Amino acid sequence: MPTALRHRIGPELVGQPVIERTNPADPTQVVAVTPDGDERTVDEAVQAAAAAQPAWARLPAPERGAILLRAGALMAGRRHAVAADLVREEGKTLTEALGEVDRAVEILLYYGGEGRRGRGEVVPSGTPHTLAYTRREPLGVVGIITPWNFPIAIPTWKTAPALVAGNAVVLKPASITPLSTWHLAQALDEAGLPPGVLNVVFGPGGKVGGAIAAHPGLAAVSFTGSNSVGRGIESVVSARRARILLELGGKNPLIVLDDADPAVAAHIAAASGFGLTGQACTATSRVICTPGIHDALVDALVAEAARYRPGDGLLPGTVMGPVVSPGQLTTDLEYMAVGAAEGGTMVTPAAEPDGQFLPPTVFTDIKTSHRIAQEEVFGPVVAVMHADDLDHAIDIANDIPFGLSAGVVTNDMRSANRFIDRIQAGIVKVNRPTSGVDPNMPFGGVKESSTNTYREQGSAATDFYTWTKSVYLGMDH
Ligand code: NAD
Repeated sequence: MPTALRHRIGPELVGQPVIERTNPADPTQVVAVTPDGDERTVDEAVQAAAAAQPAWARLPAPERGAILLRAGALMAGRRHAVAADLVREEGKTLTEALGEVDRAVEILLYYGGEGRRGRGEVVPSGTPHTLAYTRREPLGVVGIITPWNFPIAIPTWKTAPALVAGNAVVLKPASITPLSTWHLAQALDEAGLPPGVLNVVFGPGGKVGGAIAAHPGLAAVSFTGSNSVGRGIESVVSARRARILLELGGKNPLIVLDDADPAVAAHIAAASGFGLTGQACTATSRVICTPGIHDALVDALVAEAARYRPGDGLLPGTVMGPVVSPGQLTTDLEYMAVGAAEGGTMVTPAAEPDGQFLPPTVFTDIKTSHRIAQEEVFGPVVAVMHADDLDHAIDIANDIPFGLSAGVVTNDMRSANRFIDRIQAGIVKVNRPTSGVDPNMPFGGVKESSTNTYREQGSAATDFYTWTKSVYLGMDH
């Protein structure tokens, strides 16, 4: 039976469920049905949030944090049910989905703890008998727009720091993955979050997301998604002089040096190239090899690709789920055709889709001028490229508009340090997959991958959701 969802506005659940989301592994199965929100729904949500925010901000931060801690415990207790819903609507494997739900739990617990830590500093004042210190004040009501590829982790890592800082939120999940996000709202509600502090509006991006970007009642908008949509939102939000954070696409390189073990390097490349069906902003999509390891790496990567047979993520043993939607499948197939037409050699067997199940593809002979080396595919497609040496490999890695995540595989510390010095990426990995991050580390990119002003996750997330008040407290008068 599909789950019927409704907008969460203040204490009410409203709107008639009319938009169906089907299971990418079995498009005959309807997973969830949501209402079709619009400008008016967003306005009602902003008003409910504005009414609830002052009392929420007055609540001591440890009490706000305690609600997040309880929500984390509730979600941990139902991790299997939430993960199964996530698989049904997004398509990743159950193991991947459990990992994502566990990440959402960690984030709730981390920011729950922030309620007791707080931020601010005390500095020596130049004026005698004066206490000079800073306070972090919430922005007020903030808008959050999230993508489908981490449908519970991303809404959680944006919402939790906003809430603990004392903001109220209007959240719009991706239209095709409403159910996972609903589980977050449900856990917070059951944990005692006052009505109106988190409002959820469902519906199409252009209508609901566009209304969030434009709404004058929202002091900030945090967006994760594609570059084209993100930059459009940025111009609207910036024009009304509200705060904006964008986390966008990637074209993440993994450099493999001669001294690496090809099997280990291929395993690392496959984990972030084909894992999550390649649908991660931090996925490895370019593997750049120095001459001595190129051929061995290609052989090992092709062997790895053969292990990633796509299947229904709920079936035991499935290592890779389906492509999320027919639209994304079309994009993947188009890029595969472009890769071949531009002179790439497909070294994996021709990837014929079966429904939305698409086996991985590895291209060799890709040059930096090729579109498949420059543009985000967002599918299980990896381009292997030649480099003369480490510096040439770093030049190739940097020769793109994006700068989200980048990795190197080597046993040589000097090479690793040179890579860390020169690479243009917000997240840098040595001997680890380009995807996969800790919730207590800052997350974000440079160049076209991000607004590169504020960071998400870790204590850095608080910067975006607060402003600094500098207090001079005279001890006498
Ligand atoms: P998308 O841009 O299509 O959609 C993102 C969100 O914006 C969704 O909620 C969508 O409904 C909404 N939206 C769509 N059109 C809109 C409009 N005109 N105005 C306002 N909102 C609108 O992205 P997607 O397909 O959901 O996600 C995939 C993209 O997200 C990839 O490019 C990926 O790299 C990126 N991503 C980035 C990160 C990161 O942290 N850098 C993480 C995950 C995904």
